[in-house]
Amino acid sequence: MKTSIVGYPRIGEHRELKFAIEKYFKNDLTADELMNQAKELRKNNWKTIKASGVEAIPSNDFSFYDTTLDTACLLNIIPQELAKIELSELDTYFALARGYQGAKGDIKARPMKKWFNTNYHYIVPKIEKETKIEVVGSKIFDEYQEAKALGIETRPVILGPFSLLQISEFDTYVDRSTVITDLIQAYKIILQKLTDLNVEWVQIDEPSLTKDLNAELIAEFQVIYRELLKDQKINVLAQTYFGDVRDIYDTLIELPFAGIGLDFVEGRKTLALVKQYFPKDKYLFAGVVNGKNIWRNNYQQTLADLATLKLDKLVFSTSCSLLHVPYTTKNEPFPIEIKQYFAFAAEKLTEVVELAESYDNPGPTLSKNQLLFSKPRFTENQAVHQKIAELTPAVFTRLPNFEKREKIQREHFAFPALPTTTIGSFPQTLEIKQMRAKLKKAELSLEEYDQFIAQHINQWLDWQTEIGLDVLVHGEFERNDMVEYFGQNLSGYLFSQNGWVQSYGTRCVKPPIIWGDVSREKPITVKWSAYAQQQTNKIVKGMLTGPVTILNWSFPREDISLKESTLQIALAIQEEVLDLEKNGIQVIQIDEAALREKLPLRQTDWYTEYLDWAIPAFRLVHSQVQATTQIHTHMCYSEFTDIISAIDQMDADVISFEAARSNLTILDELQKQHFKTEVGPGVYDIHSPRVPSVAEITSTIQNILSKIPVEKTWINPDCGLKTRGIPEAKESLMNMTTAVNRLRKEL
Ligand code: GLN
Ligand code: ZN
Repeated sequence: MKTSIVGYPRIGEHRELKFAIEKYFKNDLTADELMNQAKELRKNNWKTIKASGVEAIPSNDFSFYDTTLDTACLLNIIPQELAKIELSELDTYFALARGYQGAKGDIKARPMKKWFNTNYHYIVPKIEKETKIEVVGSKIFDEYQEAKALGIETRPVILGPFSLLQISEFDTYVDRSTVITDLIQAYKIILQKLTDLNVEWVQIDEPSLTKDLNAELIAEFQVIYRELLKDQKINVLAQTYFGDVRDIYDTLIELPFAGIGLDFVEGRKTLALVKQYFPKDKYLFAGVVNGKNIWRNNYQQTLADLATLKLDKLVFSTSCSLLHVPYTTKNEPFPIEIKQYFAFAAEKLTEVVELAESYDNPGPTLSKNQLLFSKPRFTENQAVHQKIAELTPAVFTRLPNFEKREKIQREHFAFPALPTTTIGSFPQTLEIKQMRAKLKKAELSLEEYDQFIAQHINQWLDWQTEIGLDVLVHGEFERNDMVEYFGQNLSGYLFSQNGWVQSYGTRCVKPPIIWGDVSREKPITVKWSAYAQQQTNKIVKGMLTGPVTILNWSFPREDISLKESTLQIALAIQEEVLDLEKNGIQVIQIDEAALREKLPLRQTDWYTEYLDWAIPAFRLVHSQVQATTQIHTHMCYSEFTDIISAIDQMDADVISFEAARSNLTILDELQKQHFKTEVGPGVYDIHSPRVPSVAEITSTIQNILSKIPVEKTWINPDCGLKTRGIPEAKESLMNMTTAVNRLRKEL
């Protein structure tokens, strides 16, 4: 065996799985029909991988929503409140992810978190006192047999017990050591069943090994695997990704794993670790093909690194699952001069194979690849380089300082207590998407499209006024996506037609590609923001996406640093901020939904590798505005409890963030650290169709007010409403304003 991959995308080359599941949610597809479509997709994937020549093919990397959720369900980790109401297995599964509201009860969705440093999200398993960990599911076994029936031998993949422990939520009275014992027992049963099925290799994913690990955690890992691997006949691959395993390397290679999967792309120390020592009897699954970015691999460089290792049992693999890149460049209409630089999932399969071949005998594939890297890809934008070189420390600081601005703005705006607003977008209905598609196909003139957008803006402005929101938004109807929309109006960007990547559940994103130096060609959002403001006497918030998020949700360049790319984008967005201000926009929200995404997994690297430039880049965007211009920012699923001071240093006037799903735990920390920025902790979860009642929102707000001074508190949902249906979006917001009106009377 010389070639392998960690995992493959599952949403379907044309997002078939997404559409099928969404139909199932709407009762337009039966469970059986959904199962059949899923089976078809799995078959296609396995066949594609097999045909590429990659030898070791994963199974159980498929999922209807999330593989962590799959693992929780396999192990019976289902909260009591949901276990009690007896839904079908599939509906229990979806209820965990999306909540359940129906005849049998009203249960919130489980919290969702970013999967390490990616834009993929997992559903956080909850281990309660009553949780009885045991193997109750069969997906992993079924999918192996399904592939086998197609004549394809696969390597089942499962999230490992150690990482599962690290990313789960524990009820207060749960005894961790009992959980560990139960987990070991359950994983033993899984390995036994796989052995009985004659499985040769199993892949146990342990991404948590790339984080900072103390002696206690290392011991925990050791205890688990000493026991689990005792007398195993099956070959176990310990698969790590998203970084290097420097804290636990010595322990890891001594345990009786048959193979160890290491990330050579993000793992800065991986090569050095392996160079020092790697056991001769084990396979090294070298993750050299980047599973997170779309550029071609530089074969010569990769092979030069590996040659220094002198290993016999070397398997070429991907740095992580290919889940994080789109399916294929095949259908993309880029000219060949551009396309040749890209490798999506299918092309990465070929890269893995070609690398293995070239390692044994360097030939024409290697020279062809070398040619790509021998000359510059594009013409540089000297003006942008010049601007970056001329940045002085002063332009990163907004004056007057926060305290002075807060006072000035209070007088200037005179908002009522607990000002209400939304995060920006209103439902993107099918009609809106169809109109955009028609415009693109020239079946609609720009005037007609603009008229349609204007109508929507007017309707929603009226409705917002009617229900009494304080700061209105135009609704973002003209935007397909909060990053793509900006990218399309910046030079230096390229867009795929079908480059979808799963973000959470059925939600996919199509990250644009930063191809060259970035600059703003013309105003981007001014037209619609100014239009909206002209329609009303109330304040309308201008909506922008911040530089760090634009970078983090794009496929970044690999030829310059992330810092440099971000500063280029920051300068472009700064121009936009100033143009909005000039055009009468007094409140500007600069979304940094993805600020935390590229935060290094090791805390020791947080500031030096990331925050030290990411936070200033944000400040650069808004530092030049007037004191009376109020800057908002927004973050989602960002778990910023541990980077609160960095968030305060963004020096925004107001920040709204996700908090509803995670029970507002962040509030304690804000209080403790004397957070200066005014805050709008989301008072309900918009990622689920469930409508929160007035009473529920009231108690959430009361909870917020018990921790945050009322003068600092804003009231808003926890994210934009673009993925919601109109009825639930309206009902929820009306409940929100009703709750606020009642509370204001009590204040
Ligand atoms: N302003 C964006 C919206 O409302 C923010 C989206 C996000 O945070 N992901 O859709
Ligand atoms: Zn958000």
